Amino acid sequence: MKPSPLFARIIAIALIVVSFSAVAQKKANVVILATGGTIAGAAGSGVQSGYTSGQVTIDAMVNAVPDITKLATIKGEQISNVGSQDMSFEIMLKLAKRIGELAATADCDGIVITHGTDTMEETAYFLNLVVKTDKPVVLVGSMRPSTAVSADGPLNLYNAVAVAADPNAKNRGVLLVMNDWIHSAQTLTKVSTTAVQTFMSPIRGLIGTSAYGKNEYYRYPHNLYGAKSEFDVTGVTKLPRVDIIYADADMSPDLIDASVKLGAKGIVIAGVGNGNMNKVSLDACARAAKAGVIVVRSSRVTTGNVDRNVEVNDDQLGLVASYDLNPQKARILLSVALLKPRKPAEIQKLYYQY
Ligand code: ASP
Repeated sequence: MKPSPLFARIIAIALIVVSFSAVAQKKANVVILATGGTIAGAAGSGVQSGYTSGQVTIDAMVNAVPDITKLATIKGEQISNVGSQDMSFEIMLKLAKRIGELAATADCDGIVITHGTDTMEETAYFLNLVVKTDKPVVLVGSMRPSTAVSADGPLNLYNAVAVAADPNAKNRGVLLVMNDWIHSAQTLTKVSTTAVQTFMSPIRGLIGTSAYGKNEYYRYPHNLYGAKSEFDVTGVTKLPRVDIIYADADMSPDLIDASVKLGAKGIVIAGVGNGNMNKVSLDACARAAKAGVIVVRSSRVTTGNVDRNVEVNDDQLGLVASYDLNPQKARILLSVALLKPRKPAEIQKLYYQY
């Protein structure tokens, strides 16, 4: 018997409603890549300051966060389990490769990387330069080990997964989520050795906030990243040697000369003030530049740009200014840039773009 037109219409509407709610309920797929750090750290008691980083596995971390699986379907992979003071270019390259593979699959909507906070800015900025995806890539860590009273890791991980699962987080470059704040890899820096609110994005400000998984976004990053970045580390196994040398009153130029002798391809000076250093050190930098080593002036000061030809005649000495990158990020950009030979002027342009 043929169904009446009214009955057929009711069935069609019911089918549309069911499929709409299935789409609305479709959970994102988020992969967590664990590398170690305090978020995976453990101590003998909940109130002691001493602890060991990188003790807890990814499965134990996820199990410690109630409701996280309501946000997304989660898969975990252990990439390494180290305190981030032991983070290496080898692990960073491994991470970049794995992120590229995962992001290229249809069943991965976002990626979270658990990481120690000490060198989180280096890894975040490195990935921002070399990972070619618009899917959310979110770093997260904690300041207190998993065994501490008021451990901050579980809520940080919850918020990081909420951002990685969020389509609004797409195309914002590599992000870091900690203590309710969403930072760009380009701007964030660690400012406290122990405080839970250790990451700041001075001058340019936050990308947004995430509070109990509710996200708000304020801006897109200003610099080049992701698909627009020209850097590619496919097949790369090693980065060129770039040293950071810290400037202070009455500094000796010897370390600059030693760095050149030891084969550095680049040197970043963590200068005083606007990337300054004393006359003898500037002379050593000019010698290094003449020998073909790229010398970048950055600053040991937390905020403000280092620009060309302010108190130093960069044009004459052949030096490069790091603009808004601190020494540790200036080193990452230089290490990646020097994967192919480039002149100081070309490298200077990169510091204004990235
Ligand atoms: N030393 C630790 C690390 O970077 C500190 C932390 O994660 O907060 O792995």
